[in-house]
Amino acid sequence: MIVHSWVVSNVERAVNQDCIFCKIIAGEIPSAKIYDHGGIYAFLDIAPVNKGHALVVPKKHYATLFDVPPDLGRELTTALQAVGRAVMAATGATGLNVGMNNFEAAGQLVHHAHFHLIPRHAGDGLTLWTQHAYESVEEMQKLTQAIRSAIG
Ligand code: 5GP
Ligand code: ZN
Repeated sequence: MIVHSWVVSNVERAVNQDCIFCKIIAGEIPSAKIYDHGGIYAFLDIAPVNKGHALVVPKKHYATLFDVPPDLGRELTTALQAVGRAVMAATGATGLNVGMNNFEAAGQLVHHAHFHLIPRHAGDGLTLWTQHAYESVEEMQKLTQAIRSAIG
């Protein structure tokens, strides 16, 4: 049946059977759920950088940021703000890092797009990435042009 196969193929696309986060969202694996609204789910990271470290994820399986439909942006921002505020309030944090790893070279271990919300406390000792200098102003300008051209 045409309608039936359309529904099945779309459901299959939305859930990846091998994905641990799809299983968490489906309730097949337990999670410390903190948010469940519309297309967005959030739960505590099992190995927190700081206590209260939360993961905000689209319920549908999208591998990276580049697969997430822009239409989900409003719901995603609402969730990031609500969960971020609540994590800060509950932990007494005075700062919050929001991070996302995309592709293995960037440290992505779970291939279901997700945002890390990490509560921060002054002097908590967490160091972020190290920074470097460009070799020249020309090098920086060349890269600026290349990125602008890639945006189109
Ligand atoms: P990534 O490196 O892909 O950005 O981060 C994946 C995150 O998922 C890690 O911080 C890891 O601790 C967390 N994680 C992996 N498996 C589970 C799980 O089964 N439950 C929970 N709550 N977090 C998980
Ligand atoms: Zn998934």
